[in-house]
Amino acid sequence: MRPTFHPRLVNGPFGDPVVLVRLLGHGRNLFLDLGDLHGLPARPVLKATHAFVTHAHMDHFCGLDTVIRYSLGRERVFRVVGPPGIAERVEGKLRGYTWNLVHTYDQAFRLEVLEWENGRGRLWTFPCREGFPRQDQGAVDLAEVEPGLRVVHAETAFRVVAAELDHQVPCLAFRMEEPVHVNVARDALDRLGLEPGPWLRPVKRAVQAGSGPDHEVRLPGGRTVPVGELLEHGVIRLTRGQRLAYVADCLWAEPGLSRAVALARDAHLLYCEAAFLEEDARRARERYHLTAAQAGELARRAGVGELRIFHFSPKYRGREPELLAEAAEAFGGPVGLGP
Ligand SMILES: [Zn+2]
Repeated sequence: MRPTFHPRLVNGPFGDPVVLVRLLGHGRNLFLDLGDLHGLPARPVLKATHAFVTHAHMDHFCGLDTVIRYSLGRERVFRVVGPPGIAERVEGKLRGYTWNLVHTYDQAFRLEVLEWENGRGRLWTFPCREGFPRQDQGAVDLAEVEPGLRVVHAETAFRVVAAELDHQVPCLAFRMEEPVHVNVARDALDRLGLEPGPWLRPVKRAVQAGSGPDHEVRLPGGRTVPVGELLEHGVIRLTRGQRLAYVADCLWAEPGLSRAVALARDAHLLYCEAAFLEEDARRARERYHLTAAQAGELARRAGVGELRIFHFSPKYRGREPELLAEAAEAFGGPVGLGP
C-alpha cells in the first residue's frame, strides 16, 4: 500500500506538538496540533488547509500566528478545528495585532474556526480584508460514528473523527481515515499498455466515493471504460483504508480513556503523548498527562499497528530509551520516536 497520509512530527519528541500530514495525490497538507512552526519553511505551511487542534495550551497552538503571517495577502482559506472556546482564543490572538491596511489587499485570506461544543459544531469565519471580525456562521451537525466519536471533517478521500478527552480542560483527539485505500498496480497498467498519470486521480476519487462498477472513467487518449473493468484487470486493488490517530494530553481516567481507545481502534499508526516515565506517574496524574507505559497500554487496547510517542518532559533528555522501553513493554508492538 502506498499510503495517502504521510505524517511527520515537526519538532521531535521534546518540542512543541505538531504533526504535518502530507496528503499524497492531493497536493496539500494538514496539521495535527499547531505548536511552534519555525522549523518549517513557508511552502508546506501554505499548502496546509486545516489544523486539528487538541487544546489551546500555548505549546499546541502558538503556530497559528505563523500560519496567519504567511497567509496574509493570499487568496486562501485555512480552517482550525478545535475544542470548546477555540473561536474566542483565535479572536484573542487576532485582536493582538493592528489591521488598518488589510482592506487594501487584493487577495482575500479567510480564517475559519469549527468549534466543538458538547459534540455539536459551530462555525466562525474571520475575513482578513475586513480586519478579521468574528462572524458566526451557525451550528454544524457533527455525525456520530460511535458513542462520543464525531466527524469533524469529511471529504471523498478521507474524513477526520474527534473525541473529547480530559486534560483538566476539554481536549480533543483526532483520527484521520480513508473509507478504502485504492492501490494502482503498475504491472497491470503495463499489461494494458497504460501509463500511470493524473488520469488515475479521478478514478481513485470515484472508487473512494463509492461509485459502482458501471461508473465510466476516462483513459489517457480519451476512451472511457467502466471502473469495473479496471478492477477486473487488477489495475485497481482495494485494501483497508489508512487510519492515523493522534492523542495528545489526557488523563488516564474514564470516560476519556475509553474514548481514546475507541478513537485509536485499529489505527495503522498512533501518535500518543508520553510525557512521563512510570517513576513520575503521580506527576503525570497531577498534570493530566500520560506516562509512556500508559501510552503503550492505550495502543495495546486499541490494537494499533505502530505507536509513536512524543511530548516528553524536558527533564528526560538523554533518557529516551527508557521512555521507549516502558511504552514497548506495555504495548507489545513496535514503538518509535518519529518522524
Ligand atoms: Zn501538552
